[in-house]
Amino acid sequence: MTIRRYLENSALTGEVTVTSVITGEKVIIRTSETWFHPQGGGQRGDRGKIGDAQVLDTRFSADGQIDHIVSDAGRIQPGMKLPFTIDEEQRMINMRMHSAGHLIAGVVEASFPGLIAVSGHHWPGEGRVEFREEKQTDITQAEVARLVGKAIEADLKVAISGDPYTNRVCSIENYRPIPCGGTHVSSTSEIFDIEIKGIKRKKGKLRIGYDILGC
Ligand SMILES: [Zn+2]
Repeated sequence: MTIRRYLENSALTGEVTVTSVITGEKVIIRTSETWFHPQGGGQRGDRGKIGDAQVLDTRFSADGQIDHIVSDAGRIQPGMKLPFTIDEEQRMINMRMHSAGHLIAGVVEASFPGLIAVSGHHWPGEGRVEFREEKQTDITQAEVARLVGKAIEADLKVAISGDPYTNRVCSIENYRPIPCGGTHVSSTSEIFDIEIKGIKRKKGKLRIGYDILGC
């Protein structure tokens, strides 16, 4: 099992030891530990470099390992110790999008009892948070935008607690803590701004579409 260092440490550079190189339809490098966040929990996988290999995406394999999908492994072989760098700009966008999802879930649950956040998708251009609507609420797009804007302005602290490998939770101020393996900003002002794009209801679920703005 790849040790998931990103759960306890947000380093964007360092050194990894290659454990296998898999060539097939996709070329994959596996390492004993990784700081690359794999796609999951609604968040995109990290990109960057391992040695000279360009990491195009990071994914969980079916057996719980972490696959760094590379364009070409070149001369990279198992046993090599190589420097890595994670694409900082893309990581920042992922962190802001993902943290924005937590914030929307938190303010909506706190302001509209009856709405429980159940899932999220935090890809740029596709951001959404879904809620189970246990009773009809009078939620509006304008009101969510106002509440979220207020929470960003208040610069609420985003805290990660629990054991990073077994019960890691993310909590923003007093909103309900959420078990999470994603990457997060340290306070809500780092999200800069959130655009609430719309609210849709379908089959007992309420979906809030969003994106992050500027920086
Ligand atoms: Zn999270």
